[in-house]
Amino acid sequence: MKLHPLARALILGFGVLSAPPLSVAEGLPDLGEAAQAEFSPAMERRIGESVMLEIRADPAWLDDPEVTSYLNRLGHRLSSQSEGVRQEFEFFALRDSTLNAFAMPGGYVGVHTGLILAAESESELASVLAHEISHVTQHHMARMVNKAGQGQVASVLALAVAILAARSSPDLAMGAAMAGQGVAIQNQLNYSRDFEREADRFGLGVLERAGFDIRGMSSFFERLQKSGRLYENNAPGYLRTHPLTTERLADMGNRIQGRPYKQVTDSLEFQLVRAKLRAQEGTSRDAVTEFETRLKDRNFAGSEAAMHYGLAQALVRDGKLAAADKELGELRRLKVVSPMIETFAAQMRLKQGDAAGAVKLLRAAQPRYPQERPIAYGLVEALLEAGLPSEAIKVTEDELLSYPSDAKMHGLQAKTYALLGKRLQQHRAQAEAYALLGQVPAAVEQLELAQKSGDGNFYEYSQVDSRLRELKKRMADEAKQAKEGKQK
Ligand SMILES: [Zn+2]
Repeated sequence: MKLHPLARALILGFGVLSAPPLSVAEGLPDLGEAAQAEFSPAMERRIGESVMLEIRADPAWLDDPEVTSYLNRLGHRLSSQSEGVRQEFEFFALRDSTLNAFAMPGGYVGVHTGLILAAESESELASVLAHEISHVTQHHMARMVNKAGQGQVASVLALAVAILAARSSPDLAMGAAMAGQGVAIQNQLNYSRDFEREADRFGLGVLERAGFDIRGMSSFFERLQKSGRLYENNAPGYLRTHPLTTERLADMGNRIQGRPYKQVTDSLEFQLVRAKLRAQEGTSRDAVTEFETRLKDRNFAGSEAAMHYGLAQALVRDGKLAAADKELGELRRLKVVSPMIETFAAQMRLKQGDAAGAVKLLRAAQPRYPQERPIAYGLVEALLEAGLPSEAIKVTEDELLSYPSDAKMHGLQAKTYALLGKRLQQHRAQAEAYALLGQVPAAVEQLELAQKSGDGNFYEYSQVDSRLRELKKRMADEAKQAKEGKQK
């Protein structure tokens, strides 16, 4: 199925609009409104947020703070180079072996793990992110909706329903999609040719200013095209969603020509993230064998350290803790310095039943990597494992002072309060976690539970009351905005 990621993003978005879960239905514009009204940044954000609710609930959503943290660091390094554009971004990974990436309204950029593994250099991965970032900063989704007539958007909606259904039954949905698509999608693709060229052009600028090798873009896209030829109709997802024409490749080539060659070293985190993802692919035995073979042949795809790290991860998966510990020893011997090594060492201690040892490791690592969220999460979890919930609460409090919008940390705090039997605090923390993820009705529900908890003091109850008023107002405002949008 030929579908531009923007079309897919819109489609996903419309899909959510057409059959929203009750919790997100309120405050969302309906389809007609989205087609008629100018796409405001607030509306873009709201659509993106509601799609993210679906995505986070999808089994393919990769809930790995280290991968997410790496993607966001790389993504923000790039997006900060978009000139004159103020736009928030959130990057995330989906566990999917197909080569794909997509951008959604509101600055949400998803990358399949297959694409991360297919990139041969960090500049290559960065080039795809830069291209997606440019789709967002150039407001391609809004421009597409504003250009498309209402009739077209309706056909797209038919396809949307089919695509959402595809998650449960691919064959059935495919048939429905084929019947429903036709003209609308062809027209979407016609618009998209210009958008693709524009995203390439802006993406190259972003890539260059962020200090990456701009050749990464043409080398990666050329390789994607070659692998597409091999597979004939089964082209990699990225090509189906971002139609790559010879013209586009030539365009890129012209821009790159004559530019000085730039040697860019891949970051250690890029290599470690890839090794970690590779260690999770296929059977654990295959993964172990691959890393062992590479180490034996000294055929390091990346650095030697990343191969030891990947082998250690694969061995843990294979239940070989002693062998994994030996690989960790190799990493220490090679003096590999990365927060990812520390969290891995702590996880090893936990698996060996040494929670106190894990706490000690992470306590030592924390001042060295104060901004690393995975270290902080690991520390809270190790403290809970060690039976020290009061210590864990202190860590969550300190962390939330520095990172008040860390939803995962609010969730860990709720879990810790639950262990301590503090019900008001538990529901209050859980409410903040939900509110940050855009699940306002669920947050309101938690605060109502907090009101009934019976274990707070006067001061705590009045804080709960005032937060509840705030969130109820936010719900009402969003519903009102959506209504006004419809009347426009
Ligand atoms: Zn594109």
